[in-house]
Amino acid sequence: MSATSGQCLCGAVRFQAKPAGNAVSICHCGMCRRQMAGPFFAIECGDTFKAEDSPNLGVYSASDYGERIFCKQCGTVIAWRTKDGKFSEVSVNALDGLEDLRLKQEIFIEDKPDYYSFAEKTKQLTGQQVFELFAESQSE
Ligand SMILES: [Zn+2]
Ligand SMILES: [Zn+2]
Repeated sequence: MSATSGQCLCGAVRFQAKPAGNAVSICHCGMCRRQMAGPFFAIECGDTFKAEDSPNLGVYSASDYGERIFCKQCGTVIAWRTKDGKFSEVSVNALDGLEDLRLKQEIFIEDKPDYYSFAEKTKQLTGQQVFELFAESQSE
């Protein structure tokens, strides 16, 4: 896919990113659900996520390895990325003009509450499996 633009609800934070493909993944972890009032619908953008400088660009250090990008003015969640910037999952809802997306994967499936589930057949990974896959990809 080619690089595309995106922005928060109020437009104070704008960014560019290049999706790795058309696969949408959902994170059900407790941190995502608390921050976003629901699961996180994201598309992998590798190291291509670049936010424009803005006084409203919020970067929340959520763990030792990851940070959450958001707009300080309107509260829109924009992305999760590793602190070294080499891997990003960008909110599919903040990106402009994406078509033909498919829901492919759900992660932290053990944290999904019982009150919702998705009908699409997806690859489902536990948090532990996600960490293992990530460690493998980092050691390559
Ligand atoms: Zn905003
Ligand atoms: Zn999450």
